[in-house]
Amino acid sequence: MTEVGATDLEELGGALRGGVIAPGDAGYEEARTIWNAMIDRNPAVLVRPGEAADVAAAIEFARQRELPLAVRGGGHNVAGNATSDGGVVIDFSSMRGVEVDPATRTVRVEGGALLSDLDVAAAKHGLVVPGGIVSTTGVAGLTLGGGFGWLSRKLGLTVDSLNSADVVTADGEFVTASEDSHPDLFWALRGGGGNFGVVTSFEFGAHELGPDLLSGLVVHPIESAREYLQHHRELAEQAPDELSAWLVARLAPPLPFLPEEVHGRQVLIVAFVYAGDPDEGERLVEEQIAGFGSPYGKHIGVAPFTEWQQGFDALNAKGDRNYWKSHNLPELSDPVIDAVIDAVDNLPSPHAEVFIPHLGGAISSRPDDSTAYAHRDAQYVLNIHGHWTDAADDERGVEWTRGLFDAVTPHATGTAYVNFISDEGADRVRDAYPPAVWSRLVEAKRRYDPDNVFRLNQNIPPD
Ligand code: FAD
Repeated sequence: MTEVGATDLEELGGALRGGVIAPGDAGYEEARTIWNAMIDRNPAVLVRPGEAADVAAAIEFARQRELPLAVRGGGHNVAGNATSDGGVVIDFSSMRGVEVDPATRTVRVEGGALLSDLDVAAAKHGLVVPGGIVSTTGVAGLTLGGGFGWLSRKLGLTVDSLNSADVVTADGEFVTASEDSHPDLFWALRGGGGNFGVVTSFEFGAHELGPDLLSGLVVHPIESAREYLQHHRELAEQAPDELSAWLVARLAPPLPFLPEEVHGRQVLIVAFVYAGDPDEGERLVEEQIAGFGSPYGKHIGVAPFTEWQQGFDALNAKGDRNYWKSHNLPELSDPVIDAVIDAVDNLPSPHAEVFIPHLGGAISSRPDDSTAYAHRDAQYVLNIHGHWTDAADDERGVEWTRGLFDAVTPHATGTAYVNFISDEGADRVRDAYPPAVWSRLVEAKRRYDPDNVFRLNQNIPPD
């Protein structure tokens, strides 16, 4: 690894259509930060590309000097691989364009676009691409890991809507990966993360849905959580694919529809979207979710889906401290329910929460080996969001997260979703892929990045 001097930076900057930011430059301090404030690193240079050739130049620059190379889409990943100390960061915040072609129902998305960029542009044409549930998340990182959200039970994973990706390889070659061109790369990109190249743009096939959908929240007291969750697992088993109802156990945020005395109490929140006829959805939700027990409050209505997509952003703002761990679950068993309720009794901060997405539906109906995201049988994810604001709470927050993770381990599948893994070591990365998928990924890695240039990620080493 060599030092990066002023001449190097001048040369690199001069060769780009975009620009560079280095220590001492105005904006460097902001530019070097990512979503998770637990990660505090100082890259030698951030390259903000203006076009694919800039990406190739940045890769070449890093390779020649043997500098670690990080790639940042939206900068949201909790593991913090989108930055490095003393290395090069390709920071796609300069390339956030989204182009919708309503005639072919395709959407072209640049490598730095956020979900909000994609959602808003598609909604103007009555279209959607299934993504995640926080609109400030980067499309790139989310897609490369698989991607699921409110529409995935109905429309599949984000990668299931991917038509092609424009990639700059470790050798600086420009390649379009699709079913017909470099199919091995296309398969690997759909779940294998940033291991195989730098994606400058994605093309998605969009779906006609919305722009308004039924969505909402029902807030149950924690005292009735066990009974509700046992009811919920029956409901979820029979639910139509249109219904995605996710569970959140935490302290009640100051939601305007909750009585003030409920704010800060332990609650179970059922958050849902119905990706179909709103009247049918409302009947189902009123009967099965809001009509069960005596909720503290509810907020249910037909609203622009783009608005709902931004509803969780404030609870997940950039700059807080986060340590997450996550399990795939085969079912919502009684021991898992008990462990979650116990954990809420002992939260390390008002921001920490247990988040339980419900999967299945269109995700599970595709063959496991159709993409590198292969654990399509997982019905639920248990995502333990250790989240706090003060560095003094780090130890407590990490301990709480690990405690719940360990308690649930015997009841989980042992597999993982790569996008929810923190910095947890090589074995945990392997848990994200069945052995046959891992072998195929290693083969693709050998072909497209034999020197492991792209190793600041949940790494799939070529050897
Ligand atoms: P970054 O940190 O920028 O990138 C993550 C990694 O992706 C990088 O280290 C790099 O290896 C690779 N990468 C990024 N951009 C490129 C590129 N252009 N080319 C090649 N490689 C690249 N996931 C879901 O599926 N559903 C959800 O609902 C969901 N909700 C979330 C909510 C929050 C608050 C957070 C923090 C995360 C959530 N996630 C969700 C996880 C999310 O999908 C991952 O964190 C994802 O990696 C974020 O993508 P990014 O581009 O913002 O991340």
